[in-house]
Amino acid sequence: MCGIVGYIGKRNAVKVLINGLQRLEYRGYDSAGLSIVENGELVTFKKKGKVAELVKLLEDRNFDSTVGIAHTRWATHGEPSDINAHPHTDNSGKISIVHNGIIENYHSLKQMLISKGYTFVSETDTEVLAVLIGYFYEKTKDLEEAVRTALSEVQGTFGIAVLSSYEPDKIIAARRGSPMIVGIGENEFIVASDAAAIIQYTRQVIYLSDNEMVTLNRESYNTKTIDNVVTNNIIHLVDFDLSKIEKGGFEHFMLKEIFEQPQTIRDSFRGRLLVEEGEARLGGLLPVLDKLREVDRIIITGCGTSWHAGLVGEYLIENLCGIPVEVEYASEFRYRNPIIRKNDIVIAISQSGETADTLAAVQEAKQKNATVLGIVNVVGSSIARETNAGVYIHAGPEIGVASTKAFTSQLVVLSLIALFLGRMRNLSKIEGIQIARAIKELPSQVEKILDKAEQIREIAREFSYSRNFLYLGRGYNFPVALEGALKLKEISYIHAEGYPSAEMKHGPIALIDENMPVVFIAPKDEIYDKVISNIEEVRSRKGRVIAVATENDERITKFAERVIYVPDTLPMLTPILTVIPLQLLAYYMAVELGCNVDQPRNLAKSVTVE
Ligand code: GLU
Repeated sequence: MCGIVGYIGKRNAVKVLINGLQRLEYRGYDSAGLSIVENGELVTFKKKGKVAELVKLLEDRNFDSTVGIAHTRWATHGEPSDINAHPHTDNSGKISIVHNGIIENYHSLKQMLISKGYTFVSETDTEVLAVLIGYFYEKTKDLEEAVRTALSEVQGTFGIAVLSSYEPDKIIAARRGSPMIVGIGENEFIVASDAAAIIQYTRQVIYLSDNEMVTLNRESYNTKTIDNVVTNNIIHLVDFDLSKIEKGGFEHFMLKEIFEQPQTIRDSFRGRLLVEEGEARLGGLLPVLDKLREVDRIIITGCGTSWHAGLVGEYLIENLCGIPVEVEYASEFRYRNPIIRKNDIVIAISQSGETADTLAAVQEAKQKNATVLGIVNVVGSSIARETNAGVYIHAGPEIGVASTKAFTSQLVVLSLIALFLGRMRNLSKIEGIQIARAIKELPSQVEKILDKAEQIREIAREFSYSRNFLYLGRGYNFPVALEGALKLKEISYIHAEGYPSAEMKHGPIALIDENMPVVFIAPKDEIYDKVISNIEEVRSRKGRVIAVATENDERITKFAERVIYVPDTLPMLTPILTVIPLQLLAYYMAVELGCNVDQPRNLAKSVTVE
C-alpha cells in the first residue's frame, strides 16, 4: 500500500526519492509527491496518478537538495487529487509531512485548529496532523518536540516522515501500526515504509517499533518513544538482493513469482524436513513447545489469500493432529470479542506481516493471554515481532499485488506445522515419512504444471469473453476454489465466485447456462466421484467445464471441455499443485483483457489500514 521514503545524506535527494517511490510502486497507490529543502526553502511537488506523472512534473528542473521526503498515496480520506496528494504542509508552509494510515480523531483536531484560526486546503486527515505539528512548533520552536507532542494527541495509525525548512538538516519519522524502517548508510540515512526502497543504498536497518520516533541528522540519529523515553535499537542486516525485486525478464512480477514457485516452495521446507524420521523441524516453534503439547484448540486468522491458506490449514491440522481448528477473518476476530481459553493457540497468517487487521487480531489475542504464532513472509515485520513464536515462509519479496508464491509457501508451512504437531500426537512414523517424501516432490511437480502455461493461456483466450466465473472444489480444494476466484477478480476484474462443489445446487446452479464457465478442482481423492457428479449437474445445464485433474485421469475428459492435469500427490498436498493452474489462468485472462496485472485498480499490496 501507500509508501514513504525519506532521505538525508550526500546524494541528490530527488533522485533517491524518485527511485525509492518507483521501488514501492508495486504496493498500489493513486498519487505521488515529494518535498525537499532547496536553498533554504521548502518546496513540494505532488500529482495525482503514477510516479511517472510526478517525474514529468520535475522534468527540466535541477535540484541540489540532499534532504527530502516522498510518498505514494492510497486515498482513505478525500479522493485521489493533486491537492489531497502528500506531502501536506502546515499553515506556515515550512513544515511538510507524508503519512501512511488514518488519523481517527482528525475531525475534532481539525475543529480545534479551525477555532484557533488555522486553515485547510485538502480533505485529508493527514493535513490535520501537518497543521497540528505547525501549531505546536509555534509554541516550542523545536521540531522534534512539536512532532512528539502532536503525535501524542493523535488517535489512529501512522507512519510519518517530517521535513522542515525551520530545521533543514533533519528528518523525523515515527510509526504506530504502520511499518517504518531506517536504512543506515555512511553519513546518510534513508527511511522508508518498505525495505525495497532502502536496499540499493544500505543493508543495515533498524525497525521502528510502535509509538517510536527517530530523528535523522546528517551524521547521527536518535530514537525515542512518543512519550519521550530514549530507546535502543538493534541494527539488522536485510538479506534480500536487488534482483529479487526486479522482473528478471518476465513481463510482470506476478508471472515471475508464479514461475519462482518450484524454488520458493523448496525454500519454505529447506532444512525443516526430516524425511527418514517422518518429522518436521521448526526451530521457530521451540519457544512454545510446552504450549503446543497442551493445545486444545487452534484459531487461525488472516485476510484474503492468507485466510484461504488458513482454511487449508484447518483441514490439515484437524486431519493430521485431531486438534479442533477454527478459521476467522482477522477483521472479524479483532472486533468480535472472541472467546479464548487457556490452552488455545492463535496462528496469524500474513505475507507482509503488516496487515493492519491481522496485526490487531494478534494484539487482541495477546490481550486475552493466548499464545500467538505467526506465519509470515517479511522478516522483522510487525506481526513477526509481536507474536510469541512462528515460522517464516521464506518466499522472498512478493511484489505482484495478487499473492501467488506466498500462498503456496504458506501451505507448505502449514503442512509442516501439521506434520510437526501430528507427530507430537498420534501421527505414525510411516505416515510422517509418506508426507515428508511427498512434500519433497512438490518443486518438481510444480515445474511440470508450469510447463503447461501455453495450454492454460489458450484456455484463457477461449474463455475471456465471460464476465462471470464459478470455481468449485471440495475438501482440501474448497479453499483453492475460493483462491482461484479471488485471483481472477483481483487482476482481471471478472466476477468470480468460489464455492464448495456440493453447495452449488443450493443456489449458484441458477446461474448456469451455456455461457457460464465453471472451473472444477477435481483431483483424484476420496471425494472424486462426488465431484464428478457435481460436474455432471453442470454439464446437464450446458455449463462449460474446465477441470483441474490428476494426471492420467481419462474419465474426466468425458465431462469436462478442457482439462488441466497436475501430478499425483497426497490429497492433503493437492492445493499446492491445483492452485498453480488457477494462478496462471487468472494471469493470462488479465493479460488477454489488457489489465494492469501487477497494480490492479483499487488494490494495495500490504493493507496497512483497516
Ligand atoms: N489517510 C491518508 C490520506 O487519505 C493517508 C493514506 C495513505 O496511507 O496513503 O491521505
